[in-house]
Amino acid sequence: MSYQDDDALFPRKAYLLAQTFFIQDNRDELTQHAHKYDFDMLFFDQMADFKMALHQAPHDALFVVDLDVLSSLQKNDGNRTLFLRDLFAQLPDDRDYVYLQTERQSGRFLLQQMLVESNCLAFADKPIANEKLVEKLFNLFARSRHAESSMVLMLGDTGVFDQSLLATRNIRLVEHGDAHTLHRLAKQLQPDVVIIDERHYRQTDAIVPILKRNLEADPSMEIILLLEKSDEALSRKAVSDGFDTILLGKAADILSQQLVNRLSKIRLNQDLISRDRATGLLNKVGFQQRAHEVIMMAEAEGKPLGLAVVDIDKFKTINDTWGHHFGDIVIKRLSLTLGAFMGPHDLLSRFGGEEFVVLVWDITPEKMLEKLNAMREAFGALRFEVEPGEFRQFSFSGGASFTPKFTTETALFLEADAMLYQAKQNGRNRICA
Ligand code: GH3
Ligand code: MG
Ligand code: MG
Repeated sequence: MSYQDDDALFPRKAYLLAQTFFIQDNRDELTQHAHKYDFDMLFFDQMADFKMALHQAPHDALFVVDLDVLSSLQKNDGNRTLFLRDLFAQLPDDRDYVYLQTERQSGRFLLQQMLVESNCLAFADKPIANEKLVEKLFNLFARSRHAESSMVLMLGDTGVFDQSLLATRNIRLVEHGDAHTLHRLAKQLQPDVVIIDERHYRQTDAIVPILKRNLEADPSMEIILLLEKSDEALSRKAVSDGFDTILLGKAADILSQQLVNRLSKIRLNQDLISRDRATGLLNKVGFQQRAHEVIMMAEAEGKPLGLAVVDIDKFKTINDTWGHHFGDIVIKRLSLTLGAFMGPHDLLSRFGGEEFVVLVWDITPEKMLEKLNAMREAFGALRFEVEPGEFRQFSFSGGASFTPKFTTETALFLEADAMLYQAKQNGRNRICA
């Protein structure tokens, strides 16, 4: 069978290796859902064909392996575990795989162990609705490749950490030597974690209350005491003074890995508060917090900013005609389209529903309008397969505002929102400023 037509239509692809009957039952529905998200699915029921296709697959393709395929091949062999391992070994290890497994398979610890050792990108437990599986695959396609960075401020000698390990995890470690100015630096840098070593704590034990009482301090900031060796009396005093965690000095790699693990938990918690689950973009809370920082930074550096509110046109009709789930797909694809236009200092957020806010760093009003119109055209060019073989295109309207005419996040937003209203009044699919 030739995939020539779909090849040009859908550059992104997911390859699925599954049993023949599974493919027969689900192929049409999976393809239909995938097309709405603008990717294609290719189906294989033979390991050899799957492997061959894999070699020519684009680098951003996804590979899904239904474990039942392996089990059915495996039944022909006496030595179960060994043969399953051999099958895994057949999958090229320069690719990552999404494994589909039954509840029974997920209960087998040895199998789980084998999977994580076999380039496992993700698992999904069967039964899983086709719509759900496609949505999960889309999320994998869309997952952000830019890891966020974290900031650690340390009162004491940072030599106890493995700096290169921290750097590979995007953790910036700033050393400071003066307990009396630490709170000021913390206010300026807004670190995720502050580490205070034992020597400084013994000298100046008022540090923690001072850090915590600062109204502008991020309440989620963690304060860690680094002890040279276990000391019960000092630990007792430290936790009652407000330290969140006590770390014991040890080899630099262990200490650094502990910090890495701690920060990934902190990031996860921050994301739960400040990000939208469906798109991974900043939500209103996250945006307002960051925007405040960006606006202050821009003012200090004399850089102009542009803010825009973007809202999908006639979205209610999209929902009413093709369903709420399809509406969600339109929102996700818009978030990806807008994301492609964002620079490292820009902010993109989903304010709710089908409304997005962008804050663009160091841009003139003319360039901002150019950028917004390019975004509008890029979204307008996206093709949505609403029914098999039937494509639609949609539009959004936008309103923009700029510094220094408006100086606060609220003033910028109100102005851009008023401009958005004008864009809607003037016939939609346009940007007003
Ligand atoms: P306009 O061109 O004037 O913006 O018209 P509109 O229909 O887009 O505007 P309106 O604000 O009336 O409709 C927005 C709709 O978005 C209403 C609401 O049901 C729907 N909506 C809000 N949040 C979500 C969501 O997360 N997913 C989906 N699918 N729909 C949502
Ligand atoms: Mg709308
Ligand atoms: Mg709206």
